[in-house]
This record gives sequence, C-alpha cells and structure tokens, in this order.
Amino acid sequence: MPKTTNKHVKATHAINKGILDIARVNPSPNHDERPNQDDISLIVIHNISLPPNEFGGDGIDQLFTNTLDKNDHPFYEEIHELRVSSHLLIRRDGEVIQYVPFEKRAWHAGESSYLGRTVCNDFSIGIEMEGTDFEPFTDAQYQVLETTINALLKRYPTLSKQNITGHENISPGRKTDPGPYFKWQKLEKALDAALPAEACKGDK
Ligand SMILES: [Zn+2]
Repeated sequence: MPKTTNKHVKATHAINKGILDIARVNPSPNHDERPNQDDISLIVIHNISLPPNEFGGDGIDQLFTNTLDKNDHPFYEEIHELRVSSHLLIRRDGEVIQYVPFEKRAWHAGESSYLGRTVCNDFSIGIEMEGTDFEPFTDAQYQVLETTINALLKRYPTLSKQNITGHENISPGRKTDPGPYFKWQKLEKALDAALPAEACKGDK
C-alpha cells in the first residue's frame, strides 16, 4: 500500500470553526476543552441506536442534549442521566448531525486506551454510525463517512488514516461497537489506506 500524506487528500466538505459544512448542528452541552487543541490525532467509530435497534427517531438527539424522557422507553430509565455526546452522528440515510465542534472534547469514549495512551476523548474525534452490532450499515452511511473522514484529514493534519479505530478496540470488554457488521475493509478501500490490523479484526 503506497504511503499517502494528508495533503493529497481530496476534501469534498469544508470544516469551518470546527463544524462540518454538511452537518445539521444540534449543540450538546456534554463537552469541554481539550487539554491540547492541537492534538487531534485519532478518529473513533461507534454505533448507536435509540431505542435500541430502532432507527430514525429523536432518541439520540435527546440523549446527547440531556432531554431524554425516562418514561418514553424502559431503557431510557437506565441511561437518561448519562452525560455523553459525540462530535458527529451519521444517520441511516446519510444525514450528518454535529453535536460538538471538533476543537472541543466530546464525551464519547469513556474509559479507553489507544496504543498505550488513555483518556481517548482528549485527542480523538467521535463518529457515531446509527446502527447496531447485529445488522449492516447502509451504503449512504459509508459514503458520508468516507467524505467526512477525508475532510477531517485535510483540516486536521495531526489526524491520519493509520489512526482510525473502533470503540470496541479502545475499550475492550466494556464496549462492542461499531461491531462485527462494520466493514473496515470497505472503509480501507474507500480511503485507499491500510487501517491498523486491530481495527479490522472483527470484520465479518
Ligand atoms: Zn461507542
């Protein structure tokens, strides 16, 4: 695989003031300052669906903006007090929602470690794919994920194609997302990059 540098990445989306131009912005209070704004060096892929295994509703927006009603679903009783967020959500139809500007620290990874470095929220960008561990993601989602990652690589040269991973890899035993149906090989092909082996080990 040829070595590529970020400056040759073709960006199709712009990022201004930490916001992706195609995103619908829905600000989450669940963020704070990064310890070092110049160290944005990891992309973490997740999956989420709320209620679990249901798509298209307002649950994720509500969770990330602390407006989840615990009476709406039995599972919400467990999670409505969580204070979490991610930078981006890519919905099943490819819509992108941004909750936290990239320069700020979103609260997506929790206890985590990447190549020996802990507290991955400090230096990572979290991207949620609307989905589950039990079924494939959509082509629209992969397409938007690819163009979004290219835009991020272009805007933040401290990111690299080699430092993209899944939540399950940085919080093993505690997290299982994005799960076995996330096609790392598809992403590798789209980005024309060899992703780290550990990212791909769960591929189905
Ligand atoms: Zn996750």
